[in-house]
Amino acid sequence: AEFRECDLNRLVCDTVLLMRRQCERQKVQLNLTEGDVPPLRLDPEKIKQAVLNIIKNAQEALPEGGRIDVVTSAKDGYAVISICDDGPGIASKDLPLIFEPFFTRKGAGTGLGLSITQRIVEEHQGKVRVESAPGKGTRFTVELPLCPP
Ligand code: ADP
Ligand code: MG
Repeated sequence: AEFRECDLNRLVCDTVLLMRRQCERQKVQLNLTEGDVPPLRLDPEKIKQAVLNIIKNAQEALPEGGRIDVVTSAKDGYAVISICDDGPGIASKDLPLIFEPFFTRKGAGTGLGLSITQRIVEEHQGKVRVESAPGKGTRFTVELPLCPP
């Protein structure tokens, strides 16, 4: 991994830009709210990939008129990226499985996105969590330590 001091907001903003055109086509609102995050040491290409996988899943889950909110912040020694969508949500029986390699509910899914995201976040001593309410939406939260041990 190539760790260096980075501006997390810049990385997340670059990642959101990668998804903007597809979201516009699909009439999905993609919002970014940047909080105050101090510079932190990370592998920028990997963190972009990790966040992209989550945003891409949200976009794929959403119908026209859906909405994705990406918010960055810093709290209790962690930088936090939250990715929230108002899509169909994830069945509670699926929740323990979604980070498993090859778990997918998509016809042509690989089931690899979230397992890669989890591996990358763990390489950064971080955590990725999910909360979901079927019919209401899903929130993924990525927490990265500001001062890794
Ligand atoms: P893939 O996208 O190839 O299916 P992932 O590992 O990226 O593989 O995701 C695994 C599964 O988690 C998806 O197939 C889907 O069922 C579920 N999932 C992930 N994110 C969302 C989301 N935002 N809304 C609904 N379901 C989701
Ligand atoms: Mg995926």
